[in-house]
Amino acid sequence: MSYVIENPAGVDTTVAEQVLQSARLPEDGRLMVLLSPKHAPSLGGGGPYLGLMVADRFRHCAPGAAGIFDPFGEWDYAVGLFQEALDYQHDHPEYLTFLLAHELDHVVVAAETPEDWMLSDLVHNYVRDASGDEIVDHAATPEEVQADKAGKATAISIYGPDPVDETLRQLELAADTGSRRQRFRYLRALDPTPDATSLGTRTRHFGAPFRDQLDKLWSEAKTSGSDPMIDALVTDIEALLDDPPRSGGEENG
Ligand SMILES: [Zn+2]
Repeated sequence: MSYVIENPAGVDTTVAEQVLQSARLPEDGRLMVLLSPKHAPSLGGGGPYLGLMVADRFRHCAPGAAGIFDPFGEWDYAVGLFQEALDYQHDHPEYLTFLLAHELDHVVVAAETPEDWMLSDLVHNYVRDASGDEIVDHAATPEEVQADKAGKATAISIYGPDPVDETLRQLELAADTGSRRQRFRYLRALDPTPDATSLGTRTRHFGAPFRDQLDKLWSEAKTSGSDPMIDALVTDIEALLDDPPRSGGEENG
């Protein structure tokens, strides 16, 4: 995969270059990494997102996000890091590294297993309602856990375990809200070893307890045309959470 760094923020690109060079990106496609001077955006009720990733093939599901990158050129995958993320560059480059490597893991999933990306996105967007607010933290979804592990592993591979732990400890201490404190505490405790099972399998297991409710919400969205992802890409809602998948998708470990 070829990549370009667009740097309207005018920041030092050392960290971004280092992370991109150490990343195992898929072979095909063009990646744009945008270092943006703008504040972390809130999109579709979520965020603010210090970093985000959009795949061109799924752009109709995230038009607001795609529009952030289009002025800078053409891309198949786009990753943005915003001012609040770039501010970490000098004092906590370990955390900026984590943020970029987290987004790059999303690039790998969207490029190599787009079926898993789509399923994950659908579970991610509906699990709070489907679980009756039992699952309110979207970072708990398997794809986010995987990206957090990948981000932490990359930071450790570049800086070593102790500086990464120290940065997360300092960020936890400095956190100005309970949820941010919890987030850094969670990242500190997280074992960065990748999971042995595929993301698709983990996502189906994760959604299984709420399957009836997810099927119902997805079907309603399909009927009303309110979700571009379901509208354009899902033909058989009932099969989405079948394990193993009924559509015969290959399992990659
Ligand atoms: Zn993420």
